[in-house]
Amino acid sequence: MKNCLLRRDFVPMDMRCATSDCSRSHRSGKAWVILADGQEQAFCPYCASTVLGGDIFREQRTIAPDLTIHELSAEDDTPWLRGGPYSNVRTEAGRDRRLSNALGYLQLRAHVLPSIPGIHASVRAWPALMDLFHTYQTQQRLTDQQVLAIVSMEEASVKKAWVLGRNNLMDVYAGYHLLQRQRRKLAKSIFNMQAKPWLNKEVGDQRIQQLRERSRLVENVIGHLLQKLYLTPKQMAALDLQMRADAFTRPGMLLSVPPNE
Ligand SMILES: [Zn+2]
Repeated sequence: MKNCLLRRDFVPMDMRCATSDCSRSHRSGKAWVILADGQEQAFCPYCASTVLGGDIFREQRTIAPDLTIHELSAEDDTPWLRGGPYSNVRTEAGRDRRLSNALGYLQLRAHVLPSIPGIHASVRAWPALMDLFHTYQTQQRLTDQQVLAIVSMEEASVKKAWVLGRNNLMDVYAGYHLLQRQRRKLAKSIFNMQAKPWLNKEVGDQRIQQLRERSRLVENVIGHLLQKLYLTPKQMAALDLQMRADAFTRPGMLLSVPPNE
């Protein structure tokens, strides 16, 4: 099996590049995921290019989906590697875009989102989509017909529940990672505050209490996101989530109106 660029994805911020003698960590919380020797591995942009070969990396990243683009807060360590804008499906670039979107949808529903503990069961792909995922994993390519099948499955899903559209699932994924970062940061702050020798114990207790309340809010919002598959504008504002402007909106809607609320 040849090495193949699968996607750009979120990884823990302190995780090291998969190349054993590479000293880089994924500072931006994002990495290039390559199917190498039959296993998914997360590489820094420099090693991703080395592992695949520069020309192949450049070619494959025009179709490998970037699952991180709806998150806007983190520093981007590879801006020059982002794909350009595509518009017309009849052009070569448009075909790449359609394939890239289909691959993104396939990986989100068949692999990436179902692996999040507690996520609503509706994101789990049905057998036909799983079959296409395994085909792609083994053959590393999809025919035009298979791409169309994925597009049709997305359309059928959106008819049942708008939250299952690709754009919204990208929001769910980005929102989840932003909230996980806040959760980890708060846990660390609470730990440090508890270890600190406070001159005024009352002030210390109050500060720790505030952090605990914030932490509970983050937990609640994560629970809501995973079960409902959207966040309300109020939740996003309360936690200052840096995401695309029309995150969690129904396709075609101009304003961010929370569904069912
Ligand atoms: Zn590296």
